[in-house]
Amino acid sequence: MTVLALIAIDGPGGSGKSTVARAVAARLGLAHLDTGAMYRAVAYAALRHNLDPGDGAALGQLAGRMSLEVGERVVVDGEDATAAIRGPDVTRVVSQVSAHPEVRAEMVRRQRAWAEGHGGGVVEGRDIGTVVFPHADLKVFLTASDEERARRRAADLGTADRGRVAAELAVRDRLDSTRAVSPLAVADGALVIDTTARPVDDVVEEVVAKL
Ligand code: C5P
Repeated sequence: MTVLALIAIDGPGGSGKSTVARAVAARLGLAHLDTGAMYRAVAYAALRHNLDPGDGAALGQLAGRMSLEVGERVVVDGEDATAAIRGPDVTRVVSQVSAHPEVRAEMVRRQRAWAEGHGGGVVEGRDIGTVVFPHADLKVFLTASDEERARRRAADLGTADRGRVAAELAVRDRLDSTRAVSPLAVADGALVIDTTARPVDDVVEEVVAKL
């Protein structure tokens, strides 16, 4: 199989990862993988099975046996969970679920298999440049001000309650950045871009120019 480029895009919620990752993938004709959707899918399945979000062993087993498709739609054990994984119940527990090494090991295995199967791609998440693909052709870390991230996330969710969204993002930022395994961090050699006041096209240009 032809080996295409592998681009890792990390950053906190609302930093523009998904928008930029999709646009870069479309521009370069690469496949795109949203690893946040994978962790959300595990959290969703855990809630469905009434599993304790603190039980790493049980969640690791669940992660290993669940069937999961992540693309335009997110399909968990044959059920379309595209909307549900973005809902408040999943958002509330996803950082706790994703902190377990058993869960991460299984997701990382699937992410590497995905890239292998596609010969590369644009992969977005929290630990893609640091842990999953430290030898990616290009590593990007996106940031944006807290206010702007909350504004974007509130717009995505169609809510006017920006304060609540900002509080939820702050909790996840703290959990994701301070966990023992694969915390959110800037990878060595990553291109760091503050997207706060930048049009998407402009950010995409900067990323593509670095390849
Ligand atoms: O990107 P998104 O906000 O949808 O990610 C949801 C959650 O999944 C994050 O807050 C984080 O806890 C977890 N995650 C992770 N590692 C990744 C991607 C997401 O731990 N590579």
